[in-house]
Amino acid sequence: MRPQILFPLFADTNVLAGVGPKVAQSLEKLGANHVFDLLCMMPVSMIDRRSRPPITQAVDGQIASFDVEVEAHNPPPRRGLPYRVRCFDDSGFLTLAWFHGRPDYLMRQLPPGERRIVSGKVERFSGEIQMLHPDYIVPLSQSGDIPAIEPVYPMTQGLAAKTLRKAITGALERAPELEEWIDPGLMEKRHWPAWREALVALHHPTDLHVLEDQSPVRCRLAYDELLSRQLALALVRAHRRAVLGMALTGNGRKVQAILDTAPFAPTGAQSRVFAEIEADMAVPERMMRLLQGDVGSGKTFVAALAAARAVEAGGQCAIMAPTEILARQHTLSLAPLLKGADMTLDVLTGRDKGAGRADILARLKSGETDVVCGTHALFQEGVEFHNLALVIIDEQHRFGVSDRLRLSAKGARPDLLVMTATPIPRTLALAVYGDMDLSKLDEKPPGRKPVITRVIPLARLEDVITRLGQLIHDGGRGYWVCPLVEESDKIDLAAAEDRYNDLKARFGDSIGLIHGRMPAKDKEALSLAFKNGDIQILVATTVVEVGMDVPEASVMVIEQAERFGLAQLHQLRGRVGRSARPSSCLLLYQSPLSETARKRLETLRSTDDGFLIAETDWKLRGMGDLLGMRQSGLPRNRFARLESDTELLEVANAQARLIAQNDPDLVGKHGAALRQLLYLFEQDQAVRLLSSG
Ligand code: ADP
Ligand code: MG
Repeated sequence: MRPQILFPLFADTNVLAGVGPKVAQSLEKLGANHVFDLLCMMPVSMIDRRSRPPITQAVDGQIASFDVEVEAHNPPPRRGLPYRVRCFDDSGFLTLAWFHGRPDYLMRQLPPGERRIVSGKVERFSGEIQMLHPDYIVPLSQSGDIPAIEPVYPMTQGLAAKTLRKAITGALERAPELEEWIDPGLMEKRHWPAWREALVALHHPTDLHVLEDQSPVRCRLAYDELLSRQLALALVRAHRRAVLGMALTGNGRKVQAILDTAPFAPTGAQSRVFAEIEADMAVPERMMRLLQGDVGSGKTFVAALAAARAVEAGGQCAIMAPTEILARQHTLSLAPLLKGADMTLDVLTGRDKGAGRADILARLKSGETDVVCGTHALFQEGVEFHNLALVIIDEQHRFGVSDRLRLSAKGARPDLLVMTATPIPRTLALAVYGDMDLSKLDEKPPGRKPVITRVIPLARLEDVITRLGQLIHDGGRGYWVCPLVEESDKIDLAAAEDRYNDLKARFGDSIGLIHGRMPAKDKEALSLAFKNGDIQILVATTVVEVGMDVPEASVMVIEQAERFGLAQLHQLRGRVGRSARPSSCLLLYQSPLSETARKRLETLRSTDDGFLIAETDWKLRGMGDLLGMRQSGLPRNRFARLESDTELLEVANAQARLIAQNDPDLVGKHGAALRQLLYLFEQDQAVRLLSSG
């Protein structure tokens, strides 16, 4: 239960003066549903209105405020000209001007002969000093209404800046003083203000520098945000450790059998990573490990070894993939490896129904099945295991922090290995996977041919198609990926169908089309046909469906490549170059290409290093896009700037681990303050883990 002192902050925004249903709706568009969200609204810039020069000394183009007397109103002599009001001070004249000004309103605001403070941007215009559409006009007695330094917030249509500022001021008034949750030593060392004080300094600034990366005000607020998340992750970690898992050890025979029968020897990286996993599995604490390995680095083999260890220890292993087709693909790749070790393998997806499903479920429950591949269906109601010892999740994108929290909160006991092909910079790894241990497959299996990457304008489509004709003639295999036009399957599909029809008209039945909306059965039939060569060119819409391992494929065409994320392109490219045949990746782009787009494609062309590509993509596009914000479980940041807050994040991570170690249930006064922090940033799930949560 959320502490009572925080209730005012979680009220809807319409409790604030000046916020009716319409304004509330606009605020929602800015992401503000609660009073607290308004406090977290970061200004985008600051306007300095402190300059009060005599009129004639005002600097062209700058914001200034003046104490003036109104002389005369000059309505526009004809349409299209501004309404003008002439004012003066001791030094000279200032013309205030409005296009579409309402005379009666302006007359009331600026009665001739009276004094006003006006504030806005000054321009020198054909010999006159002018202010077009002043920001403020107030009588002397209300000069305090003009903020000396004014925060500028993100805008949305239909919401006046003034209304938003007023709402934020109202939110500030409702903000209570809270017990400090940050370590006092840290506060002192960094000269950080208290929480409420920091918010006041942000929204009613007296200092132009509060928005800067290093400002104590911003750093304090960013740290709160980072600490809340790191603490949630650290608590998950601590509580996972407290719930005993299984100590999985075995006689080593199955692992050895896989090593003996595999057609290749493990790479150094595979051996090292398996040793890390093995050590985790052998102790009773539950494993939670993230395995990062570039596309083609051989994660499946590592998964097979880990599964073998679980089975040796008398347990079962479940491998979860994001889509049905990938689940079946895994089954195909694993089958020959597991067979050598005499392990039984099953598949379970949403498609299995009725008697077939019942059989699979019975085999899982009796323990007859050693390893099962599947989709989310694996963790649905009614699926029971005999002794589930290891869960492997492939492609973490759709398995975010909250999924892990849920899995932990359930008190599930199996060890967990998450595998991802998206290389993640360290900052991002800490932010999203602070609760996990990291392993890296940083070496590719030998004998892989580099994929030749070319960046080609769409205008040269004809050349590309001719090349495909040659490939088909030579009995080769290739993919043609169509662009993600919009977030709409329908439009994507239309584009892909056009391309498919086009190619089919030329090359006949050797062309296949696979897309996200296709029934799983058809998809599977198609990928099988592609694997055995009945289909030679596979036109595809969604990226994930291409996550297959067909070594014969040697050409990857990506249409409108500029629309894809670099990590995605790199993944797609990794689907070719899996055999001795020289492979190529053709990135077709629609001219003209923006400077950033050109740089991105150039990066891809010039390197095959997934980490370098990810870092570049991150710098060019911002971190959120790297994983796809929502899918990654990467939270929306309000104050923190992950690109530059690396050091702050490290401190938050260290502090959080310390807290979780010393006070895992957050008891006592400091513990209560930390709980408030968790609630503020909606880490309620973490609070639920506490023994008196
Ligand atoms: P990913 O990490 O992208 O999932 P895979 O597990 O699909 O990579 O492996 C890519 C290819 O490399 C597969 O064809 C696999 O059989 C092969 N492979 C894996 N490990 C080795 C190895 N140690 N030596 C040679 N080939 C390997
Ligand atoms: Mg894989």
